[in-house]
Amino acid sequence: LMQLYQPLNFLGIVYMSIKQGLVDMEQMFTLLRVEQEIADKAGAIALAAHLSDGAAGEVVFDDVRFGYQSNRAILKGVSFTVPAGGKLAIVGPTGAGKSTISRLLFRFYDVTAGRILIDGQDIRDVTQDSLRAAIGVVPQDTVLFNDTIRYNIGYGRPGATEAEIQQAARQAQVHDFVMRLPEGYDTRVGERGLKLSGGEKQRVAIARTILKDPRILILDEATSALDTRTEQEIQSALRAVANRRTTLVIAHRLSTVVDADEIIVLQDGQIAERGRHADLLAEGGLYARMWALQAAEQDQREPQPIPAE
Ligand code: ATP
Repeated sequence: LMQLYQPLNFLGIVYMSIKQGLVDMEQMFTLLRVEQEIADKAGAIALAAHLSDGAAGEVVFDDVRFGYQSNRAILKGVSFTVPAGGKLAIVGPTGAGKSTISRLLFRFYDVTAGRILIDGQDIRDVTQDSLRAAIGVVPQDTVLFNDTIRYNIGYGRPGATEAEIQQAARQAQVHDFVMRLPEGYDTRVGERGLKLSGGEKQRVAIARTILKDPRILILDEATSALDTRTEQEIQSALRAVANRRTTLVIAHRLSTVVDADEIIVLQDGQIAERGRHADLLAEGGLYARMWALQAAEQDQREPQPIPAE
């Protein structure tokens, strides 16, 4: 029966992932080993993968153009440089092409024109395995395996010790939560186990990524509103994982973008505005309008103080 059950479990995860809009692309890729449109070039070499290898992690998009279909351009000449260890925030209306940027960096697709470089190497010249080892993705909505919390974190680096797993969980602000569960790290989670909240799942994903130790990080922030405490816990977990790493964040929250080295406002596949938070606010354009709107929404959600008599 177990033999029958395993593939069903596998299909369940695949189905869940598809249902959630392929948000957890890294996991999907490993699970499916999909028919790859993208092949390694003959003689492709490995990209140095980990921070511990002394790798730097500069990311350059050089006039990148791309469309999923040839008759519809999605990115129409996007250029930016994220210095090693720097943080780029990508904001913009829905459908602007934000996630497409992360898919191209992960090389799910090849650019139509222009190029993407990591530490000066065109990503088309390196092996896909080494590229994907260098990039950690924290998706909007993590799909957990139907297994223990230990397994779900440890998956970030096969062979990790218990101490390493717990250290990653501490940095991701999820260790104390796990220790309060009767079965601790042996607690089963996922569809048939303990249902974790969105914020808890995201912190498990962050712990997994800390363990993976990639030099480049893609964060896809959840759009849904979080309560203030959860938001603070996630922000502090994100700071731990972003520390020293080159970070590209698809941002939906003011708290994430204020400290970005550069913010790009993507609109209809082009960079409409770019700069740091204060400069963009001063410009009074699309960005300034976006945040004014978010601040107004936030005010509505926060409990209003009772007026003094
Ligand atoms: P959101 O904020 O809603 O996530 P986004 O800015 O991340 O939006 P993308 O997911 O990059 O937007 O999508 C940009 C455009 O590309 C959209 O119009 C979308 O319909 C289209 N698109 C995305 N994925 C595919 C695909 N696999 N095949 C064809 N078109 C796609």
